[in-house]
Amino acid sequence: MSNTTGARTGDQFMADLNDGREVWLDGQKITDVTDHPALAGSVRGMAGYFDYQHAHADECLVPHPETGAPMNISHIVPKSAHDLATRHRGFESLARYSMGMLGRTPDYVNCTFAGFTGRPDIVSMNGNEECYENLVQYHRLISTNDLSLTHTIVQPVVDKSVGDVEGINGDLALHKVGETADGIVVRGAKILATLGPFSDELTVYPGQPLPADTPPEYALSFAIPMNTPGLKTLCRDHYGVDGPVADRPFSSRFDEQDAFLIFDDVEIPRNRIFLDGNLEAYNRLMTHGWVGNIMQQTSIRARVKLEFAYELCVRMVETVNGMRPDVEQMLGEIWTYAALTRSVTRAAEADAREFGSGTWFCDEKPFHALRPTMPGWMVRTNSIVKDLGSHNLLATPTRADLDHDEFGPLISEFITGAGAITAEERAEIFRTAWDFAGSALGSRTELYERFYLASASRMYGVNHMIAQREREWNLVPTFLA
Ligand SMILES: Cc1cc2nc3c(=O)[nH]c(=O)nc-3n(C[C@H](O)[C@H](O)[C@H](O)COP(=O)(O)OP(=O)(O)OC[C@H]3O[C@@H](n4cnc5c(N)ncnc54)[C@H](O)[C@@H]3O)c2cc1C
Repeated sequence: MSNTTGARTGDQFMADLNDGREVWLDGQKITDVTDHPALAGSVRGMAGYFDYQHAHADECLVPHPETGAPMNISHIVPKSAHDLATRHRGFESLARYSMGMLGRTPDYVNCTFAGFTGRPDIVSMNGNEECYENLVQYHRLISTNDLSLTHTIVQPVVDKSVGDVEGINGDLALHKVGETADGIVVRGAKILATLGPFSDELTVYPGQPLPADTPPEYALSFAIPMNTPGLKTLCRDHYGVDGPVADRPFSSRFDEQDAFLIFDDVEIPRNRIFLDGNLEAYNRLMTHGWVGNIMQQTSIRARVKLEFAYELCVRMVETVNGMRPDVEQMLGEIWTYAALTRSVTRAAEADAREFGSGTWFCDEKPFHALRPTMPGWMVRTNSIVKDLGSHNLLATPTRADLDHDEFGPLISEFITGAGAITAEERAEIFRTAWDFAGSALGSRTELYERFYLASASRMYGVNHMIAQREREWNLVPTFLA
């Protein structure tokens, strides 16, 4: 790493990515992702996130508790309502960098690991104290070096008629296959490492709880550098474009690149193992506080994105002077989703409490309600962008069209906005809207919103289970009596 003195700059982030990792894109093996023309804009976009934290240091950085060097707020192990308020301010600022379009900026996994580190009561259980110490050291490493992390926690299920690690699914899912003098060997696959090619480290931690009779080989949590031998990163098609920001404000910078990971007999050093066969800790870690911790970050990001979408839609309507009652209704609908999201975050923060070992997380209940609901709001918001934008989303000259000596004046005359709005302003608004909801990246991001916290259907089912455990339901017989 180029830096051990706290929050990195974009240049430092880029320098550290050239580490000989094995990344595959469209049949091509890439070892330096900073040098690939298709990825260039997105790498610079991620570098911009690191510069942004310095430009907004008052909100995004705090002194590291041990070294005093600047540290991203997402590494705070929250111990009070004040810590959660500090994180809130930072998460909101960081989300504004991409207006919520980047879902997996490093603060997402950082926040998760800060939460895990604050829970020795869970990670150390069943004689796992040594591995908990590994976690403490790892948290020190990532917070002092400001590393960029990806995570894969979902099993690569190919046959949905059996359990996630049963039958063929069990053969394919990541599991331990051996021990060495220095660690363990793992084999299998995991989905889906968003930011994988642009991360320093891969983290693996529990996803859905595993059934009690699951072989212990599947109950794993660890972290390794992305250039670890045997780790293969298969990128989906890249939707970023290396073009002017003015033409494609999101696609030119913010494709966070999802990837499928194959572990082809990968050795995990002993000091990087956090859970190895400890099924009880594996199943408790995600069900006792994780939601209250991580959803502070995700709900703030979602609200920033919805507020941006609201304003973008208002500006689209103003550009064509199209305000009518049905349009007002659609605009109010997006604002309502943003306001509800803000209320959920506030309620969860207001009822924050100590969850164990002195660590504070937000109340989980409001987030349980938001988790399966938000995907629908995001999909509906994109649909409104398209309804309001109509053909205007495609009648959108580029910067080069506008600047052209011969053609530019005709565009200024024929593709202009209502009232005093110029052709240039009109193009800017509708190009932004298309890139937000309709471009290849816009579609991918909609899929992300549908699934990044597990499918809505699954989570509604979980909420029913929570409701059944919460209390006895006697309202109907009480009323009828
Ligand atoms: C763009 C994107 C980025 C991602 N990034 C990451 C990442 O960085 N790290 C990571 O670990 N994962 C990531 N994921 C993976 C994500 O966590 C999974 O896609 C998600 O958990 C859904 O998995 P699944 O297909 O198994 O969904 P399922 O839960 O199987 O849902 C798929 C569909 O099947 C049906 N269904 C299945 N099971 C049930 C059930 N029990 N009850 C009701 N309906 C059911 C529903 O119709 C549902 O819509 C990403 C996914 C996407 C799309």
